[in-house]
Amino acid sequence: MIETSEKVDARAIAERIAAVRLRIEAACRRAGRRLDEVTLVGVTKTFPLDVVSAARVAGLRDFGENKAQELAEKAGQAPGVLHGGDLVWHMIGHLQRNKAKDVVAHADLFHALDSPRLAKELDKRAGGEGRVLPCLVQVNVSGEASKFGLDPDALYPFLDSLHEHANLQILGLMTLAEPTDDAQDVRPQFRLLRELAEGYPAGPRVEMRHLSMGMSGDFEVAVEEGATLVRVGSALFGPRTYE
Ligand SMILES: *Cc1c(COP(=O)(O)O)cnc(C)c1O
Repeated sequence: MIETSEKVDARAIAERIAAVRLRIEAACRRAGRRLDEVTLVGVTKTFPLDVVSAARVAGLRDFGENKAQELAEKAGQAPGVLHGGDLVWHMIGHLQRNKAKDVVAHADLFHALDSPRLAKELDKRAGGEGRVLPCLVQVNVSGEASKFGLDPDALYPFLDSLHEHANLQILGLMTLAEPTDDAQDVRPQFRLLRELAEGYPAGPRVEMRHLSMGMSGDFEVAVEEGATLVRVGSALFGPRTYE
């Protein structure tokens, strides 16, 4: 599942990380935000662990994977804070209930909570491991363009229902915007996610601290609209041969 590396170009990775950081900084300046409000999550899916190592040398600490199995493989070798390491592992992809175990075992933050049944399973597993799993709820702000995520209308009832899950801590919202040639087109989608987060009252289990939005093609617009976590893959690590 993980490609074996021919040779990882550590210098190119370091240069791309620096370039993306500069673009985040410029977007923060335009929006009057502080740079330390935004965390760059390097999406290393399909790339080997050597790529994680090279990015780590270049100062990156947050890494994202979209498959539970690949997350478990990499986080097992390069531990996150959950296991006393210095990396932060983000599970950013859709999760099937039968893989919940891997996420509870390895993810420092799960971005894609999107159903009551998954919440129940994760809560049970997290309880079994004696941990609280920090989660973001995925919202579908693009209409039919996305397969996953809750409809905006269903978000607040879902958040209300999570109060019964003592082993889940909801820290915000996540979305995937519609793929487009002009990132400005998706600004209203990012804005909607922010407004949904701002409109929900904080409680013991839910605190809208994070907005996970923005990828290689649209992270600057996402930062301008309030993203605290941007999930960037190809702009840092090059094109992927498969998803
Ligand atoms: C792959 C992926 C990304 C990163 O995509 P790029 O366009 O390569 O930056 C971000 N978020 C999710 C959920 C992904 O699966």
